[in-house]
Amino acid sequence: MERLRAKLVALRYLLATAWPIMLITVIGLAVAYQFVAPEPPRHLVISTGGESGAYYAYAKRYATLLAAKGITLDVRTSAGSRQNLERVEKGEADVGFVQGGIAGSQDGDAGDNGDADARPTPLRSLGSVAYEPVWVETPECSACDECTTLAPSVFAYNDQRKAVVTNPKGASFADLVRAAEKCTAGCLHPGTPWNPAEPGLDGLQARAAKFN
Ligand code: SF4
Repeated sequence: MERLRAKLVALRYLLATAWPIMLITVIGLAVAYQFVAPEPPRHLVISTGGESGAYYAYAKRYATLLAAKGITLDVRTSAGSRQNLERVEKGEADVGFVQGGIAGSQDGDAGDNGDADARPTPLRSLGSVAYEPVWVETPECSACDECTTLAPSVFAYNDQRKAVVTNPKGASFADLVRAAEKCTAGCLHPGTPWNPAEPGLDGLQARAAKFN
């Protein structure tokens, strides 16, 4: 009994003297909590484009780099920039590749290319990666002559009669989109507009989206 009483006295003494330390500790943790960022996610979903496109290839490379850091990148194919944008807006993907000019801000700012018709979105871009020049998956070319006829200053055949890009800015973006639409092998990707002053870019980018 005496021992129990002694223990209770000791506990009461401890509580009476330790509460300031406990209070300071709790306040310190509460203050620190306001400034410490949450841990980054270990799993991300990225929406890319078709499996034959550059966005898919970029995403696969990101997946390899992030895997080395213990982060899983779930790469999901899509119909292109517009679907990527929709998925991120709906929360179906965490990130996605979107061509500049497709979306503008909700307060009326135009997209990167100055298109007043760019679709408003609450999303903000992490950054502009780069101008994306037109490109051809040369080994897949079936030598149908469409691109070399439509834009000979951009496309030419190599010595195996497979199309290559000789000058990505040798024709309007409209012609590059047209070439992609006519390409019988589906191996021509128009990229992004190189001239922001070209008229009708919003509509052209909408048509280009499914080929990138
Ligand atoms: S349009 Fe396509 S298939 Fe035809 S020549 Fe050009 S790259 Fe080749």
